[in-house]
Formats: sequence, structure tokens, C-alpha cells
Amino acid sequence: MNTDAPAFCKAPKWHGLRGFVLERDWRQCQDCEAEANQVDRVIPHHAGGADAVSNLVAWRRACNRTAGENIFASFEAKRTWILAHRDPASVPVFPPRPRRGIRKDRLGRS
Ligand SMILES: [Zn+2]
Repeated sequence: MNTDAPAFCKAPKWHGLRGFVLERDWRQCQDCEAEANQVDRVIPHHAGGADAVSNLVAWRRACNRTAGENIFASFEAKRTWILAHRDPASVPVFPPRPRRGIRKDRLGRS
């Protein structure tokens, strides 16, 4: 584990939430379908976002980092922005495998 991680990342509650969200989102980045390697908030802590499953999404680090310090009102707004702004060179080439797609129930939520 990254010992420089913020304290909340070490809390048992966070590990439970993180595991739940990774499973819910099929361990796929909800932007590009590559393997997700982090869980982050749609609305960040400092903007009032809660540590609740409704505010947490599985991302690939490179996609989530594209969002930077921008604040988005919804998952769909953040996803749209990331897809428009990410570095095309960072988009992974997928090996052949069943494609399950983006979870449709995550689109359009606010
Ligand atoms: Zn992605």
C-alpha cells in the first residue's frame, strides 16, 4: 500500500467501499473499460462529495487524472469531459475479451 496515501485510504471503511465499487463497476474503468485501478469520487470531498457508493466510481488512473482539479456535477459530466480531454496516447489497446460496456444505469444520473 502507498504509505503516502491520505488517512481515509487506510481506513477499513474505505477499503469496504472501494471493494464494493470495484465489484459493482466490473473492475472496469467507467470511461474506457480498461481495468480499473482506483476508486474516486465524482464530486470531491472539498466540494461536498460524500464517501457514499452513489458518489464513487471505478476509474483507470490515467482517465481519472485527466479530470484534474475540475469539479463536475454528475458522473456523466465528468465522463464526457474526460473522454474529450484525455491524451489519446494514454488510451489502452484492449486485448480480445468479452465487452460488457459501460454500465448504462450510471449514465444520466445526477
Ligand atoms: Zn478509463
